[in-house]
Amino acid sequence: MKPWGWLPLLLQLGLMWPLGALSEPRLRVFVVPHSHMDVGWLHTVQESMQVYVTNVYNSVVEELTLEKKRRFIAVEQEYFRLWWDGIASDGQKSQVRQLVAEGRLEFVLGGQVMHDEAVTHFDDQILQLTEGHGFLYETFGVRPQFSWQVDPFGASSTTPTLFALAGFNAHVISRIDYNLKEAMQDTRELQFVWRGSRSLSVQQEIFTHVLDQFGYCSEGFNWDGEAIFPGTSPNDMYLQMQIPVTKDNIQIFTSLLVRNALTRATWFRTPHVLWPWGCDRQFFNASLQFTNMDIVMDYINSHSLEFNLSVEYATLGDYFLAVHSDQVSWQVRDHRDFLPYSLDMHHAWTGFYASRSGLKGLARRASSLLYAGESMFTRYVLLAPHRFLNPAWGLQQLQQLRWAVSEVQHHDAITGTHVPRVGDMFVEHLSTGMEGVHNLMSYIIQDRFPAHSGPEPGGHFVVVYNPLAWTVTTIITLTVDFLKVSITDESGRPVLAQVQPSKEMPSAYDLYVLTTIPGLSYRHYSIRPSRSSQEKTGEPEPFVAKTMQFGGRLRRSARQVGGNLVPVNNDCYIVFLDLDTNLMHSVWERQSNRKVYMTQQFMEYHVKSDVWKGSVSDNYVFTPSGAAEPAWEAVRMEIVEGPLVTEIRQYFYRKVNDSEPTFAIYSRLARSPQGSDGELLCHRIEQEYRVGPLELNREAILRTSTKLNTGRVLYSDNNGYQMQRRPYRDYKSNTIARNYYPMVQSAFIQSRRSRLVLLSEQAHGVSSQGNGQVEVMLHRRVVNNDPGNMVVDLTLNDTSVVQPVLWLLLGSRALTSGLRQRSRLALQHRPVVMLREINEIAPRGSGSRQQEAVTLPPSIHLQILSIPGWKYSSNHTEHLRTLQKDRKHEPKADLRRVLLRLQHLYEVDQDPVLSRPVTVNLRVTCPSRVLLRHL
Ligand SMILES: [Zn+2]
Repeated sequence: MKPWGWLPLLLQLGLMWPLGALSEPRLRVFVVPHSHMDVGWLHTVQESMQVYVTNVYNSVVEELTLEKKRRFIAVEQEYFRLWWDGIASDGQKSQVRQLVAEGRLEFVLGGQVMHDEAVTHFDDQILQLTEGHGFLYETFGVRPQFSWQVDPFGASSTTPTLFALAGFNAHVISRIDYNLKEAMQDTRELQFVWRGSRSLSVQQEIFTHVLDQFGYCSEGFNWDGEAIFPGTSPNDMYLQMQIPVTKDNIQIFTSLLVRNALTRATWFRTPHVLWPWGCDRQFFNASLQFTNMDIVMDYINSHSLEFNLSVEYATLGDYFLAVHSDQVSWQVRDHRDFLPYSLDMHHAWTGFYASRSGLKGLARRASSLLYAGESMFTRYVLLAPHRFLNPAWGLQQLQQLRWAVSEVQHHDAITGTHVPRVGDMFVEHLSTGMEGVHNLMSYIIQDRFPAHSGPEPGGHFVVVYNPLAWTVTTIITLTVDFLKVSITDESGRPVLAQVQPSKEMPSAYDLYVLTTIPGLSYRHYSIRPSRSSQEKTGEPEPFVAKTMQFGGRLRRSARQVGGNLVPVNNDCYIVFLDLDTNLMHSVWERQSNRKVYMTQQFMEYHVKSDVWKGSVSDNYVFTPSGAAEPAWEAVRMEIVEGPLVTEIRQYFYRKVNDSEPTFAIYSRLARSPQGSDGELLCHRIEQEYRVGPLELNREAILRTSTKLNTGRVLYSDNNGYQMQRRPYRDYKSNTIARNYYPMVQSAFIQSRRSRLVLLSEQAHGVSSQGNGQVEVMLHRRVVNNDPGNMVVDLTLNDTSVVQPVLWLLLGSRALTSGLRQRSRLALQHRPVVMLREINEIAPRGSGSRQQEAVTLPPSIHLQILSIPGWKYSSNHTEHLRTLQKDRKHEPKADLRRVLLRLQHLYEVDQDPVLSRPVTVNLRVTCPSRVLLRHL
């Protein structure tokens, strides 16, 4: 639908106006029917489809068709698509087309899901929106115009920017800090124009509406009761069910609605009230809903002058058109977000930033694999001849993972606020999708680089793909089961590598290989066990790293600090370890020649878990019982030193006599040879952690304490998109929890001269509870006795071991600001290593001539290069004509149409050089003419 293209609708509404009304009532109440359908929360997608979703669409379509005045907004596209593709009859489909064309059934938001805003990455938000919108445009020729983010737990300022870029006309949010919402109601500032991006500012602003304190549910107007899932009592169905409306009780309903609308009206600046009608899992019996509500609304409208208001069924489009026509000038809000979200003084919803840490990690790994698979497939289809691979099959593998990655962005999925059974569903969908894309990538490799049986069985053929559009110098890690190895590149030349005993598998070895790979290109290596010694063949072998052991140190007996240091260095840093404590002591940053005192340890918050004594920690909420405490008694250290990488291994034992450590830090400093493009590699301290299993009711953090004078100001990102300043705030209660923020990809603290940046591979909670400190919540295991949670099994008894990764960057503000963006992408999109465990070797020199490297300027990121598989004409008019003409014929996906999206990485004033506008010549950066012709 075109923007503001509903004028005919308005005329219809005009005809609905009560006959005989001499003057218009003051208030117009827009009753917007909707059903909030979580794509996985207490029930799986399949169960929800069976129990209520199918009935929602079946009955709503029927009821809307019966009465012209009725409306409905449809939100979650994953459900709608499952109904449309698998259940809807031809008759229902043509009814839906009619309803959509008349604007009576309106798709709002239009993403596969209603995505979470705190712990999702911007790229994945775009993906899930693109997936849903693509379907709507292909099927109906419409694009959604309004958002409906009414349940996510806090609102990020990435979302208004994204929705403005998607062409939306208005944005609806709901869950924001209780105090703030109250104040906004009092001052009638629930509506404003949001400029969500500092750099795009007025170019991408959007009118934003915050739902008032009643949220998206309308209590007292639910006539279809509770959906009954297997295992629940049929009596439960009637719990929420209202008695039918009759002549005798109509005044109860009408006065409830009228009083509610009049109250709400006082919080807004126009005489239009948005009255969401519905709640979770409603409208599965739309006939009961509409027939009862029709009576209530008819009664009110027949007394409209008396009540001084009129009511009408409406879509969001109807409501916003009315607000827009009032021509009020609105306050402008800048790029600040609405995080964290507190429901009240005692419930800070900051626990979910780290709930189900394992799923959060898997979701991001799946997304990164998809990103790599997309560009690899696109270039394969467009540039290279393909012999064995069916592109339609390839597209299917990608589509399966697109759907799974979209699904897990739902606000009860990646947030970890679902029951364990539903978590298993998300994991299964992601794993299946990843397997398909792995297979696709292996086939492409096989197709491009056919391997021949080699003379030396037992070796590996390794292909490494760089999915970024820049040359990347990095170290890849392989696990091998032999110490003596020979590794050569595609030209048969030996490669710089290092081998050492594996950190966790006693019989295996970690093989580190230095690689430099041009953008969107491959390198391939042959790894074979060395059968003869180095002296005999003269062939260089990887260096074997030396391991130094340091005995255990007790936390309580640590006295001397700083008197006995051991340095570990590369060209950018010297990390000093304190042998009296086995903890980090300080880091010397060579470029600015500054030493920063810095130490790290694992700590835990003990949490409240008895609901009878007040608020508790759960999947959503973080309720510590006090300050964090050290979670270990002893720490043991090893330093494994080699020419390429030095690894510091610190093992933290909860109790002195524990045989296994509960926590570990593996810190790595890399060295790249002179002349190689290893700037990013040099400027990071990679840290991999091992956390768990945790004891019950503990929330584990890694606290990094420095002597930087930071004033307890933390910076953390919104969705990997932009940074937010987070000054520490004192509250009357719950201060620790309310100073927690989501960290999707980046956080930093800084003094006047130095900045410490943390980059993460997945979402965590982050906070600065003290001057010079930054702590990352890595894992949670919380179980409480809330009867409500126990009935539905909404617990977080997570006994897993998690292995998150952080990169630490230390340096001047200027240095780190230049490096942060590219480094976070280097972590997000590390090269994909594909290992063929077969006794084959690649023909030397094969493949490399077919590759054409892509190199974008350093401030420009290739955000997506894919073949979406569009099945419609790129000409809008032609597409609409086709939709009207022929629906029996299923069109084929167009494999020659490519989606390319570039992102400028730097804010307007972030860096004197890198922030400048850049002109990208696609012909130069993507040198293939074949590719360009189809963009
Ligand atoms: Zn929800």
